[in-house]
Amino acid sequence: MAKVHNWQLGREMLYPYDAGHPDWQFAFVFNINRCIACQTCTMACKSTWTFSRGQEAMWWNNVETKPYGGYPHNWDVKLLAMLDKENPEGQTWDPAGPKTPEKPYGVFEGKTIFEAAEKKYGAQQQRVLGYLPGDQEWRGPNIHEETAAGKLATEGDWGRSTQLPEHEVWFFYLQRICNHCTYPGCLAACPRHAIYKRPEDGVVLIDQSRCRGYRKCVEACPYKKAMYRPTTRVSEKCIACFPRLEGQDELLSPDGAPLETRCMSSCVGKIRLQGLVKKTPAGDWAKLPENPLHYLIRERQVALPLYPQFGTEPNGYYIPPRWVPRKYLVQMFGPGVDSAIEQYSCPDRELLAVLQLFRAGRQVIFSYKIEPGPKVAELEVTMPGGKKKTQQIFNDTIIGFNKLGKEAVRVTVEEPTFERSKEHLNSI
Ligand code: SF4
Ligand code: SF4
Repeated sequence: MAKVHNWQLGREMLYPYDAGHPDWQFAFVFNINRCIACQTCTMACKSTWTFSRGQEAMWWNNVETKPYGGYPHNWDVKLLAMLDKENPEGQTWDPAGPKTPEKPYGVFEGKTIFEAAEKKYGAQQQRVLGYLPGDQEWRGPNIHEETAAGKLATEGDWGRSTQLPEHEVWFFYLQRICNHCTYPGCLAACPRHAIYKRPEDGVVLIDQSRCRGYRKCVEACPYKKAMYRPTTRVSEKCIACFPRLEGQDELLSPDGAPLETRCMSSCVGKIRLQGLVKKTPAGDWAKLPENPLHYLIRERQVALPLYPQFGTEPNGYYIPPRWVPRKYLVQMFGPGVDSAIEQYSCPDRELLAVLQLFRAGRQVIFSYKIEPGPKVAELEVTMPGGKKKTQQIFNDTIIGFNKLGKEAVRVTVEEPTFERSKEHLNSI
């Protein structure tokens, strides 16, 4: 296997192919704290791409309730157990390791799905550690919806179960699409070389004419986002709505500016921000601090990758939920959880402004500018450790620009209110 650099692990790792990096990379941030599980995103995707025969159980976008929900059922628990077996010393991170912008979470000392496969089978036998879910596991995409975990509150004790920093009874919604990974497990496992990563935007696609339906990608994707279609006998997956990304929608984007995917641009809770990040030929993120994704992920590290220990360098990032037990979150998002929640609990002026860009429009935002506004509030905030902090809120205006450098969105921190004039009263 080749050696490639994985910045999320802070080290080199084994991968079946040499690294080859795109010019730009499709990436996104989901703010878990705001999701209401309305499933509008799920239906926007389904009604666009997977409404045909043979695609009944195929949900490229899904929103599951953690800790018990999962599509397919128990996808992450199963793989974590398999990885645990191959990592008898534990899937640990070096907490004392240097945390630099290049290694923001320290160094991962366990084995990834590629390294564990080499240990278990030998790289010639199997390239990726994974499993093939049975048909039963793909049924019921939202099973265990809103099923909570934790110690049940006793009578008269209900308030305590919903007190920050951690709720004693808890669940949260996890929004999932393909991560268009930097080192995709699906691509690594495909014996037909049918899966490729586009050089212009890093989108991972399955060439339908090359695929023979061996389902090695389904087995190897640690996020279970490659899916088999029995009617055509080939595999399919999220295509990142690439015609929108290319600005091909003449109606919505007459000047050819890239548009967000269907799931992102339909999000009712305004939890999603999708974009493209510039990559250097060596695979690093080019320093574009005014790019909102670069700012949230690399500069502030307030959005974290999902199961970075799997080793695929996923390009989906999450602002972790504030109320969930930390141990659970660290297993899911790595060691950056404490710092991310600390910052999100009392966002400073710039962070608060950038958070307003989520679902403010449907064009992909490449850069932003903040125009200062007046101070409108001062609040006392209880931080995760119990300390009090004063938060000042300024009604700044944040302006987002599209790929062509044109203004795409303009939002203020304070949501404006509009009063209906009298002539419209009772007009419904
Ligand atoms: S549309 Fe947004 S708020 Fe609704 S379920 Fe999807 S991610 Fe959550
Ligand atoms: S999430 Fe799965 S299907 Fe998507 S690129 Fe990564 S390994 Fe492939």
